[in-house]
Formats: sequence, structure tokens, C-alpha cells
Amino acid sequence: MSVLLYYVIFVIFLKFCLFKESNSQFCYTDPTCGPATWPGVCTTGGMQSPINFDGMDTTVAFLPSNFRHVWENLPIAKNFLILNAGHTVEVLFPPGQEPKLKGSAIGLPGEYTFAQLHFHWGTSDTGGSEHTLFGKQYALEMHMVHYATPYGSYAAASVAPNDPNAVAILAIFFEISPVNNVALIPITKAIPLVRRFNRSQEIDVTGFLNLKNLLPAHLNFYRYEGSLTSPDCHENRVWTVFKQPVKISKQQMKQFRTVFDDRGEIIVENHRPLQARNGRPITFYFVTESLFDKILKFFTAYLSAWKEILLFPFQFLGNPTLFTLSFGRKLE
Ligand SMILES: [Zn+2]
Repeated sequence: MSVLLYYVIFVIFLKFCLFKESNSQFCYTDPTCGPATWPGVCTTGGMQSPINFDGMDTTVAFLPSNFRHVWENLPIAKNFLILNAGHTVEVLFPPGQEPKLKGSAIGLPGEYTFAQLHFHWGTSDTGGSEHTLFGKQYALEMHMVHYATPYGSYAAASVAPNDPNAVAILAIFFEISPVNNVALIPITKAIPLVRRFNRSQEIDVTGFLNLKNLLPAHLNFYRYEGSLTSPDCHENRVWTVFKQPVKISKQQMKQFRTVFDDRGEIIVENHRPLQARNGRPITFYFVTESLFDKILKFFTAYLSAWKEILLFPFQFLGNPTLFTLSFGRKLE
């Protein structure tokens, strides 16, 4: 009898654990665990991500810096770690080799350490990104997550109160192209290794990864304060969303659509719906090195020409003798 009692207690305990486990999971398309059911600040927060950029009430700023040198050290790895996080594919640098991001290069204070990058995608090439640009959704969006180095870890920075710059995320849109994105090949080739979800299993992949080559050619970006786009939707995230999309081939895109989530189902639409802006300021940073130099040269030449034109009459008024002499020479 007592054995049966223990068995019943064990089964109830097991069911309770499984129930807790399933409750802790989140998903995107199933109404029972989709975005509308996400708990806490996901529902109550006023600075949530993603948002649409429509140019309305957007401040324009210039960042004439060496933006190309956005990372302190070369953001290159000869081998990297890839894992199926249950709702996306994550890529990490080997411990101790994480690139350091120069805050000043993107208008932020201090230094940041690379934590991981991951992706959001859809079932078709016409949608999948989380942020949208004038209502346009791209096929894929990559998030490069960095934490402010003084916090020592992403986990510590992630829950830092009242620090809007604790976690910096660089977001890059991808649009379909006839040719492969060469910089992305090491990642798309490694995706089959993590097709099935296996909690905390990181696969060490030999492959050349260069974060810099994953950035668009034109580095103009939108900046705003938002949140993580999946539970627990922590705020205090500063977003840098590049305006220009980079390329990805159809074949590369297909690799993402073969990945299974932590419920054993293909990840089909792992992007959160747009959130209310709630009057948050957005700044569009115009960042161009060569063009900035050209503009600077143009204005220098332009001002110089106008100076000549404007000062032309004054030189005669100020020196009549010179005028006479000049005039006389012209008549000869
Ligand atoms: Zn993300």
C-alpha cells in the first residue's frame, strides 16, 4: 500500500514538474504559448521591442568616426560555437576570444563585450525580421548581443536596473539575393549540426567567422531604447538597427527553416510582433567616412568660392589705387 502511495506521489510530482516545464516555455505561433501569453514585462513594459521605423519624429545625427573600426580587436574566430537555443540558432566565440565593441564608434559610452549572435526568420522570403523599415519586413534579422564590459558577464548586465546602456544589440536585416553571402557561409554550413534541440549542447565548429564582414556596406543606423524580443523581455537594451540590408541566398535561407524548436517542431516564424513605440525617441545616425569627407571638402570649397565672390567688391572699395591699376591693366 505504501509503495502505491509513493508511486502516486511520484507521478503527481512528475506531472507538476512537466507542467512547470511546459509553462516556462514560450513559442511564437501557438496561441497557448504565443506572444500574447508571454508574462511579466513582456505584457506590462512600456519600452518593448521590436518597433517599426517610419521616419516620423526621428532626430538625425552625424557620427563622423572611424566606424569601420567598431570592434577593438579583430572580430575574427577560426573556430566558433553554435547551438540550438530552442527557439533560434545561436553563435558564440570561444571563451576568452570574445570581440570587444568600441562604444564611442556607435555613439555609446565605454566598451562592450560580444555575448552571442542569433537569428529571427519566417516561412517565406517576404517576412521574418522583427523590426520593420517603413513597414517592410525582411527575410531574416540577425542580433549581435553585447554587454557593457564592466558588468563582467551578460547575465549580470542583463538584469542591471536603471542602466539603458547595459546591453547593446546590433541588428542587421537580410534580403534575398541570387548569390550566397560569403561571410555567412560558416554559419549556414554549421546549421545542420544543431538542427535538433539539445539543451546546452554547444558544437565547436572549425570555420572562419568575421563579424565585421556581416555588417552592411553603409553603416547608417537607427538608435532607440527597447527590450529583449523574447521572454523575459527585459528592458534596458540599447538598439542599433542598421538601415541597409545585407544579402542572403535562397539556399542559405532554407537552412534556417530546417531547425527544430524545444517542442520538437520546425521553427517557422520566430519573430515577435511589433510593439508600441510609446513616444520613445529615435535617432537616425548618418555614418559615412568617405562621403563625410567628400561633404566636408565640398563645403570647404563652396565656402571658399563664396568668400572670394563676397569679398570681391570690398577689395576695390578698400583700395581705390589697386582698382585703378587693375582696371588699367585690363584695358591694355
Ligand atoms: Zn533576437
